[in-house]
Amino acid sequence: MFEHESFDQHERVVHVHDAASGLRAIIAIHSTALGPAGGGCRLWTYNDSAEALKDALRLSRGMSCKNALAGLKMGGGKAVILGPVPDDRRRDVFEAFGDAVNDLCGAYVTAEDVGVSVNDMQVVASYTDFVSGLSGAGGAGGDPSPFTARGVRLAMEAVASRSLGASSLEGLKVAVQGVGGVGGNLCRELGERGATLVVADINTSRVEAVCDTYGAERADVDTVLLSDVDIVAPCALGGALTEETVSKLRAKAVVGGANNQLATLKAGEILFDRQIAYAPDYLVNAGGIIMVAAEYFRTNASDRVHADVEKIYDRTLNVLDRSNESQTPTNIIADAMAYDIIGKARREDAEHRSERRVVG
Ligand code: NAD
Repeated sequence: MFEHESFDQHERVVHVHDAASGLRAIIAIHSTALGPAGGGCRLWTYNDSAEALKDALRLSRGMSCKNALAGLKMGGGKAVILGPVPDDRRRDVFEAFGDAVNDLCGAYVTAEDVGVSVNDMQVVASYTDFVSGLSGAGGAGGDPSPFTARGVRLAMEAVASRSLGASSLEGLKVAVQGVGGVGGNLCRELGERGATLVVADINTSRVEAVCDTYGAERADVDTVLLSDVDIVAPCALGGALTEETVSKLRAKAVVGGANNQLATLKAGEILFDRQIAYAPDYLVNAGGIIMVAAEYFRTNASDRVHADVEKIYDRTLNVLDRSNESQTPTNIIADAMAYDIIGKARREDAEHRSERRVVG
């Protein structure tokens, strides 16, 4: 673990196995310096458990950075459940997962991610209070993906104004890879603002729905990111921006909802060298966790959540400007800003360790 290429001072990585339900999960807690480690639960069929571990390590680190830059009192964590989970075991699996989250006594707070629904989180909630993204929570709550999509659209507007010289998204052409919760809602946000859409998803019925509703053009899943468009929006799984892909991009900007879009740091450098504006993934896709945190901490007045999501616009401008001034790729700028906040919180936390001493 400590030599793993994706290990980054993670505080705790828990492997969970429940024989009765068949649950196999990994819960990675990257940091609790700013508060409980917040981050969704992904259900995915990985090629092997090594791939699942790498995903959990990378995603949890990204959550620490995301929550820090969003100004949340949350650290970063992530859970992955290794699929497939048969339909008739699904409830049992999420019950066992809720039990495992509860065993962490609040160090990790879960919510929805890829492959996990509000219904699944309702099941989790019958075993733990350390869960968010529940229905009927009042001002905020339920599926976080519309909030995430809203934040991505705001970041896209910031990039359009700063890097493309466009005062709005009207008339811009955007290619969206993956039209699930985030990508589908992003298509709605963009369609309502007069953008032209090119879409692809391995789930063809989702593509049909977006094409029917917004007059989007279909693209091939393997080449959608290479479309001749103004902006590409990776909204499926991570690693879409490989060095080869970014070398061939025809778009002028990348602004998407997926986590861990850059396959390597070098891919970020290539984007910068090619003068393709890249809005760092965890900066722009924080809308969902902003909602999840508001629900969890019960500060969930919807107008306040919307105001907090709106801040993604200015934060994106700030990172683009810093990148321009220092001639440094945006992903490096965002990492430095996030680690500054997390490092300071970690040092303060260490200083207060003696207060947690148990005298007995
Ligand atoms: P989702 O499961 O609702 O949608 C993902 C979509 O991507 C699905 O329709 C799937 O068929 C499609 N897909 C998978 N592989 C693909 C491929 N190779 N090419 C094209 N399409 C493909 O998940 P989601 O909640 O929309 O999350 C999408 C991404 O956004 C993930 O990376 C997730 O971690 C990230 N994210 C989600 C949220 C949220 O609020 N849900 C918040 C922040 C980040």
